[in-house]
Amino acid sequence: MSWEAVIGLEVHARLLTQTKIFCGCPTAFGAPPNTQVCPVCLGYPGALPVLNRKAVELALRMAVATGCEIHPRSVFARKNYFYPDLPKGYQISQFDQPLATTGRLVVGDRTIRIHRIHLEEDAGKLLHDSNSTLVDLNRAGTPLIEIVSEPDVRSSEEAAAYFTRLRQLLMFVDACDGNMEEGSLRCDANISVRRPGGPLGTRTEVKNVNSFRYVARAIEHEIERQIGVLESRGTIRQETRLFDAAANETRVMRSKEEAHDYRYFPEPDLLTLEVDDAWVASVRRNMPPLPAQRSQRYRSEWSIPPADAEALVATRDLADYFEAVVSASGNPRLAANWVRNEVLRVLNDRNIELAGYRVTPPMLGELIRMVEAGTIGGKIAKEVFDEMSASGEGAAAIVAKRGLSQISDPAAIRSAAERVLAANAAQVEQYRAGKTQVFGFLVGQLMKETRGKAKAELANEILREMLTSASSE
Ligand code: ADP
Ligand code: MG
Ligand code: ZN
Repeated sequence: MSWEAVIGLEVHARLLTQTKIFCGCPTAFGAPPNTQVCPVCLGYPGALPVLNRKAVELALRMAVATGCEIHPRSVFARKNYFYPDLPKGYQISQFDQPLATTGRLVVGDRTIRIHRIHLEEDAGKLLHDSNSTLVDLNRAGTPLIEIVSEPDVRSSEEAAAYFTRLRQLLMFVDACDGNMEEGSLRCDANISVRRPGGPLGTRTEVKNVNSFRYVARAIEHEIERQIGVLESRGTIRQETRLFDAAANETRVMRSKEEAHDYRYFPEPDLLTLEVDDAWVASVRRNMPPLPAQRSQRYRSEWSIPPADAEALVATRDLADYFEAVVSASGNPRLAANWVRNEVLRVLNDRNIELAGYRVTPPMLGELIRMVEAGTIGGKIAKEVFDEMSASGEGAAAIVAKRGLSQISDPAAIRSAAERVLAANAAQVEQYRAGKTQVFGFLVGQLMKETRGKAKAELANEILREMLTSASSE
């Protein structure tokens, strides 16, 4: 009998605010340790938190984007535990009255329900070296949202797809920069297995699966481990496990704590968070267009094939770039092909981001217009594009410098064709004897003679004409 995996994901996303959630300290990543701290985020006695409006705003954007019900009143609570990176001895989070509940995220052809989205503060960071551990509290008090899914995910691939979609959405609404190396996005996976249709099994929680590769791998391993345990008649303990990517396994970290272990109680230093309809309406109004809306527009207005439209909204930067190339070139279909194939290939080969890419939308637009105008052919255009990517020079400049303009002057093509026919007398004979397959070879020679610059249709036409008229002489 087979097993079915049941997975629920908890994703923590760092909100893109300038300052921390309860104080005015900057949130910029990478500052020297303990330089972005104050009495509030260091937890000094008597220091009082003040809620950052922008953090609420960004959380609301995500709540709207996932169709959550937004609660007019939500409450901050203290989650008490001791850890050296938590100077107050508690984390301010939201517990039984979160900001938003019951949303959804469409992943491929399935809908994963969102259980809740709440606001909380991040803890500091421990830096371990060989014989000591140092504490950096720059991150303490950075605003986070936690997005908790229902246990609707059914496979490791689907978990990775959900995580990818969520990251895409967070970045599109400018709520989070999605930078996983810097820890802007962190994912815990809750995993159990059951007989299909049966009751839910006991779950384990795998902490910190922080790259797309690891999400799928960590979950896959945990599913197999649980199936192994159950098939040998063991039981799964509810516990927190860590994924060790090097060893390719999950290991016990601690037995799972229960909510009551944290002694939650309402944060006495903060007011109830009130979000009225006007606030939600203004968030809705100012919402940047979502990936689904943008790809829909590419399909309906510009007739871009669905798979391309989907790929072009993979990130907001890419979608912005593509739309700018459309305006610069005036040709959406060609723009889609160039961006999806050539631009992504170069970015991938050189491992660079769009932000640092030399070929700007107006530059690519110019190249596309030159192709459309017949100034250069498709093959030469790709060479020019590669040179643009390498040197940062413009298309027109490269074409002029290297003399790559397409030859569309019939006289010039004819004289090149004459040289080709003279040099390939044997093939010319064959053609005239009825072996017309050699035509392709002769066209190839003509293109070679013109260094690829002869306008293809014209070259074909002229060559055919010369071959037939000469034979009838
Ligand atoms: P906790 O803080 O204890 O981890 P949360 O409510 O934050 O609790 O998260 C619980 C997560 O576990 C949710 O994503 C939920 O969908 C998931 N979950 C609950 N029960 C199961 C189960 N039996 N199998 C897999 N996932 C589960
Ligand atoms: Mg959890
Ligand atoms: Zn501070």
